[in-house]
Amino acid sequence: MSPRDRLVAVAVPAPFADALTYVVPDTMPTPRPGARVAVEVARRRTVGVALSLVDEAPRGVELKPVLALLDEQPLVPPELLRFLCELGAYYLAPLGEVLRAALPPMSRETARRAAEFVPARERRATGKVSQRVRLTGAPLPATRAKAAALLHAHLRVHGEARVADLERALPGARAAAARLVALGVAELVVREDEARVTFDDAVARDAPPPLTDPQRAAVDALTSALDAREGSTHLVFGVTGSGKTEVYLRAIAHALSQGRGALVLVPEIALTPQLVARYRARFGDDVSVLHSGLGDAERHAMWTRLRSGAVRAAVGARSALFAPVPELGILVVDEEHEGSFKQEEGVRYHARDMAILRAHRAGAVCVLGSATPSVESLELTRTGRATLHVLPGRAVSSSMLPEVQIVDVSRTRPMPGGHPRISSVLHKALVATLARGEQAIVFLNRRGFAPTVVCESCGDVASCPSCSVALTFHRRRGALLCHYCDHQEPMRDGCAKCGGPSLAQEGIGTERLEAALVEALPGARVARLDRDTGGGARSEKILARLRRGEIDVLVGTQMVAKGHDVPTVTLVGVIDADGGLSMPDFRAGERTFQLLVQVAGRAGRGSARGSVVLQTRTPRHPAIALAASQDVTAFLDVERRLRAELRYPPFSRLAMVRVDGPDEAEAREVAGAVAACLRASRPARGGAASVLGPAAAPLARLRGRYRFQVLVKATSRAALREALLATSAERRAAPRRVRVVVDVDPVSML
Ligand code: ADP
Ligand code: ZN
Repeated sequence: MSPRDRLVAVAVPAPFADALTYVVPDTMPTPRPGARVAVEVARRRTVGVALSLVDEAPRGVELKPVLALLDEQPLVPPELLRFLCELGAYYLAPLGEVLRAALPPMSRETARRAAEFVPARERRATGKVSQRVRLTGAPLPATRAKAAALLHAHLRVHGEARVADLERALPGARAAAARLVALGVAELVVREDEARVTFDDAVARDAPPPLTDPQRAAVDALTSALDAREGSTHLVFGVTGSGKTEVYLRAIAHALSQGRGALVLVPEIALTPQLVARYRARFGDDVSVLHSGLGDAERHAMWTRLRSGAVRAAVGARSALFAPVPELGILVVDEEHEGSFKQEEGVRYHARDMAILRAHRAGAVCVLGSATPSVESLELTRTGRATLHVLPGRAVSSSMLPEVQIVDVSRTRPMPGGHPRISSVLHKALVATLARGEQAIVFLNRRGFAPTVVCESCGDVASCPSCSVALTFHRRRGALLCHYCDHQEPMRDGCAKCGGPSLAQEGIGTERLEAALVEALPGARVARLDRDTGGGARSEKILARLRRGEIDVLVGTQMVAKGHDVPTVTLVGVIDADGGLSMPDFRAGERTFQLLVQVAGRAGRGSARGSVVLQTRTPRHPAIALAASQDVTAFLDVERRLRAELRYPPFSRLAMVRVDGPDEAEAREVAGAVAACLRASRPARGGAASVLGPAAAPLARLRGRYRFQVLVKATSRAALREALLATSAERRAAPRRVRVVVDVDPVSML
């Protein structure tokens, strides 16, 4: 190495490595920050992203050269690159992994150039055909082909998968898939991705309606914030139908008129053609839609169009946070309270929290919107870090909030002669609704027929061989299913433990509820919407039938609750309002409340006033009682005080260290060592961290792995970070089969 050598820091996709230093060969132009390069890491060639030039080489290592420069124009714009670096630091995630999660697959051209230097498995494949592989259900004969067995296990866990995606995750998957097909164990299907939201149908442009006064106030505030060109955060708190989306549309239009870009994040489940149509009606083809059903080539095309400024607005689910929108002006997070903004695999980021950060750094306006804001977001407005805008009523004044009736099932009769879980109150309401020619939704957040199958002789519960959970009986498939790992087995004809001949099917899921309602409402057209009846396009079909009046009663899980506007539904029934309250999670109350308010909001969105029947065993629980009175402010007040008292977020900082492995004792030992290390750390920068655990996770075993967790609670982010950093040696020292994951600001407590 000579003193005149140019040195460049490169983020590489390898655990525990943030950036490595390489020499730029004399003949190569200097890689600009954000450009991809081919480099060697630990004798393996891979693709990394160039950061900045560095002055000094780390001591005592022999530097390797950059093998190839893959982008002349940096793929990642500077604003996004800085944001990704900060995100990685916040979540203690290696920058290379963050980049891997954020960046699109390579174009054919880049992949071709990379191919000269990097073996195929280190590149991301491109593919336009969505060929998928799925299991036929036939048992896997003994095979010595390890890759085939591995793929079989993978498919059993994850279900049908795109071959191109598999090839990326499991090298040799294509050949293994062919082998499984030859064995009759799997089959190949070519199909359109289900969740696809296409632009095939032209959408007529709409004219913005005149704003209501509260909308006007919010829009004015947002446009002045945009004019100020400084980062700021806003919370738009308004009931469903209060016109939040119209507020976003106006603010986005203003940002676009300033020549700036816009990003809208919505929960994946809410990313429906209906929603997309509203953005397209306003902005035409200046909007891209980013969703999980996109193929690699499409993702790449979207990225390029945004990156070049050809399209300046994007609507998408969680990962649209990383869209390379140029000159970001506004970032909207709709339904900000939704837990699905949290990524639970790989880099565990929270898209809402990071949207606030990205907007702040970019000098952009961040708009959070919800009918049931999270305690966290409301607290931002109380402490002056965000501005609150309230939309108190529905935008179209003729539509009123529904009337809610609580039915305490421990004191009320079930309907005579019917299923015990359908109260006579709900039954009467259904009959009356149908008699008026109106429609109803009945909500139950549990799919399948019977959630538990119990031996009547010994009481043994049929449970998953690889998870510590009971199997759910699905009648139409005649199978027992694990809802966590998708293990499936034929319904047993006797107890697996004592051989007893009779098994009781206990509890109720949507499949059983559907059957019970068919019986209880002769002549009514009953349909069901849950993950078993289909997601994406199939669920749109069911909802379209509902809108056309071809369904009288729709039974469903939370898929019926979210974001669908069906004006003709006037009755909503909730079978088990407190189903979620027993979850071992400090947010269980909040989540139940949000879900109930949202479900109730499905009733009477048209001109007829809707009504809601809430069946519960705990009518006085604040999450139930205040959902019934639709008093969001009162609930947030109760919840906020509870959190403050127990020192849960936003009144403390949490991190969960999750440890899992195939051997229980080994995993427990690692968790113990991490906990000891956390306890021993004394944060120097003030603030205290307290450590809970290690304890077996509530879901103690998942996919054959034993799970332990250590919860760290700190008074400040700095203290939390320091404590966690103190464990990095311990985490690295864990045996290979044991996985240790740090989850900062955890959402799932399971
Ligand atoms: P939210 O996003 O809060 O659920 P939406 O923006 O979807 O509410 O508005 C609900 C309905 O009211 C939509 O059909 C929308 O077109 C309509 N709407 C919104 N604002 C207005 C307005 N100012 N005047 C008339 N209709 C409006
Ligand atoms: Zn399982």
